[in-house]
Amino acid sequence: MTNEQVKHFKKRLEEELRSAEAELKSLGWKNPTTGEWEATGGDIDQTATESDELGDRMEEYGENRAEIDEIEIQWSNTKRALQKIDEGVYGVCEISGEEIEEDRLEANPSARTCIKHMNSKGLGTSF
Ligand SMILES: [Zn+2]
Repeated sequence: MTNEQVKHFKKRLEEELRSAEAELKSLGWKNPTTGEWEATGGDIDQTATESDELGDRMEEYGENRAEIDEIEIQWSNTKRALQKIDEGVYGVCEISGEEIEEDRLEANPSARTCIKHMNSKGLGTSF
């Protein structure tokens, strides 16, 4: 991969990271202790005495949690890809060590594997 290509993907990854973070911030907050994203809406405080309200809060929490989980995967893959750029190993399949197809990176700059291995088990995601 040429320096120009790396620069191009780095820019796209930085944009992706920014938009994922903006989305995560709208759904939750980052726990400074664990470094993980927590959903808002789940705090049961004394003001929520009505059971209806409690139900609404739990529902909101559940929805936020599900969305956060999804975006968080993308967020951490994007961070990981940016780290790989820093380490000079960007665009290499994590399973086979082959170069990832350019088309695939164009479609998903934070891809961790080549097309052949995109559905491999063991990475925890299908990216
Ligand atoms: Zn591969």
